Amino acid sequence: MSVPELRESSTRSPAGLAAASTVLREVFGFASFRPGQEAVISAVLSGRDTLAVMPTGGGKSVCYQIPALLQRGGLTLVVSPLLALMKDQVDALRANGVACAAVNSSMGLEMQATTMRDAAEGRIQLLYVAPERFGNGAFVAALRGVRVSLLAIDEAHCISQWGHDFRPSYRELGAVRDRIGGPPIVALTATADPLVRDDIVQRLGLRNPEVHVAGFDRPNLRFEVVAVGTKKAKAEGIAARLKTIKGESAIVYCGTRKNVEELTGFLQRNGIQSARYHAGMEDADRRRIQEAFARDSVRVIVATNAFGMGIDKPDVRMVLHHDLPDSLESYYQEAGRAGRDGGPADCVLFFGPRDRGLREFFIEQSHPEPSMVVGIYRRLVEFGGNRVHVRELMDKDDQPGINAAIQVLADSGLAERRGYMVRALRPDGEDAIDTAGLEAHRAHAVAKLDAMERYARWQTCLRAQVLRYFGDETAALACGNCGPCVAPPVATRETGVSGDEEALFQQLRAVRKHFADEAGVPPFVIFNDASLRDMARRAPRTRLEMLNVSGVGQVKFQKYGEAFLAVTKAAAPRLAPATGEAASGTAGRRPRQPGALAPTLEETLRLYRQGLGVRAIAKTRGLAPGTIATQLAALILGGQIDDISPLVRPETLARVKAAVGEGPVGALGALREQIGADVPYEELHLARAYLTRQRR
Ligand code: ADP
Ligand code: MG
Repeated sequence: MSVPELRESSTRSPAGLAAASTVLREVFGFASFRPGQEAVISAVLSGRDTLAVMPTGGGKSVCYQIPALLQRGGLTLVVSPLLALMKDQVDALRANGVACAAVNSSMGLEMQATTMRDAAEGRIQLLYVAPERFGNGAFVAALRGVRVSLLAIDEAHCISQWGHDFRPSYRELGAVRDRIGGPPIVALTATADPLVRDDIVQRLGLRNPEVHVAGFDRPNLRFEVVAVGTKKAKAEGIAARLKTIKGESAIVYCGTRKNVEELTGFLQRNGIQSARYHAGMEDADRRRIQEAFARDSVRVIVATNAFGMGIDKPDVRMVLHHDLPDSLESYYQEAGRAGRDGGPADCVLFFGPRDRGLREFFIEQSHPEPSMVVGIYRRLVEFGGNRVHVRELMDKDDQPGINAAIQVLADSGLAERRGYMVRALRPDGEDAIDTAGLEAHRAHAVAKLDAMERYARWQTCLRAQVLRYFGDETAALACGNCGPCVAPPVATRETGVSGDEEALFQQLRAVRKHFADEAGVPPFVIFNDASLRDMARRAPRTRLEMLNVSGVGQVKFQKYGEAFLAVTKAAAPRLAPATGEAASGTAGRRPRQPGALAPTLEETLRLYRQGLGVRAIAKTRGLAPGTIATQLAALILGGQIDDISPLVRPETLARVKAAVGEGPVGALGALREQIGADVPYEELHLARAYLTRQRR
């Protein structure tokens, strides 16, 4: 049963965008959109199919999460490739008070059914699934009872064989839209390669899509290439860098498992705690290490590119590359895992004379020359239909590309392989070998590598080069924050952070760790580092000041606000009061007047002064009365509202006073039980705030 939805005009810009920025502030606690987010959200809200190309860490998630929260009564179905990634997203959204869930095969059948019922009955707004789900009959059947208003496909490049994360299960997604009532699609990826982009549009069947390529600049990342002569010099250079990060998180990428093993050994011998990660390890070990990294118990990971999409950790301060990646796309994606929280981070590529050779070897292995494939086929045919050992087909020992070549023959229906034994299926099928296709793939891979090598040898602004590669022609010629632009490394740069502020930051991290462990989630789900830095800088003394901290939304405040406030309040006297000047400077800081109100509170205060009550303000602003009550309570506690007579009846106040007596003002729930349900919740909330303020 799918009900066609008439999109309400209120979700179109500019009113829709106004609502979107309200959600950004109140639910996510962010003051402003990142580049591109507004445009993508606006396209999605207008009901168009949309392809959003934004770099890793650019903030793609809110591009479908905010529209999901603005849809009335419809479900946003989010396709995401990895369970771990889904889990983190769901945890992070729930921490912000958003009703959402994931269904996956690791859940019990009953739990899956409950979740689907929640979706059908409108109790959740976002549902995360892996692409394989659509092959599950029970799931597809359950979906029939759900009105899906948006299909969001994250990591959409997985659909393309030209990309580096191709997943066959993504291929099936093209048929999904029609089976779920034809909602608009938003596809999101960090890969800007035009071939991949076209593939996404084609294979998902996007209709007249709006394509946004945005936000590729990551100003907080400092790029650098270090040319080294030997492998030993590389290891030493990497160790020296890692010694400067002191307890923060870093990833070192290597091109092979062997290099991962060797480098981890070297680092450990040099007193740097690090864990290795590659696809040759047991699944359980890999999961354990990934968890430990997310939870800050392991700080340095040495990994192959298998350590990838699941890493949403926002506070990685350094991504080092021991080997040359296969393309700038890969490099920018891996390096982009640094500094997602907007704080300063270093991305350093170590480049040696033999690095290109390693990559060329990989290309030989995975993209054999067409002539070689034809040669192998001919040799195979000479054996009639008999099975021969792979060895018999090689020109030399360990011939690179032999396995890929046999695979091509198998894919073309010309050969069959069992273990090491191969046999020809047809004697006359040479024409079935797609030599042009093979050649194209090979040339594509070589061109990618060429671009990567150019980057490694570039003598002027690295950022400018990357941005132009990704299609941003407006990039400045010199960014002032990369190796060739000669900025000193972050670790030695004057950050302007005082010792007291740093100490407070560390205290806040401890509080965060406490809540994270209690809830069994990674610390950034509570608050990310950028939020804690902002909190340490502002050292809020009141609820209101706390709500001004970036990343502190309404729900998070309710959950954790008081606990963090207790810490910042205690530290506040040590720190100079936040002035406009002190609040500007390093990345991520926004100048704000001392004591200035968050815009959303400002607006509520203005309407209150016009004589509107809780419900009228809620109606005017399109927000829940509970939200407005919370804001008004904040304004009462902050001293902006003195006279509560328009909001609270005198007899209500008297009853609350009587109930509380001389003791402390308790929690709202307890108060409600004492007073009875005849007083509206909002009124009680405000009476309580007033009394709390009086008692201070
Ligand atoms: P992507 O999926 O593009 O790699 P995410 O959606 O995971 O990026 O976002 C990266 C980080 O940026 C997250 O910690 C997120 O909370 C934060 N973020 C997103 N949008 C904003 C914004 N407008 N202001 C501040 N932080 C933001
Ligand atoms: Mg993402």
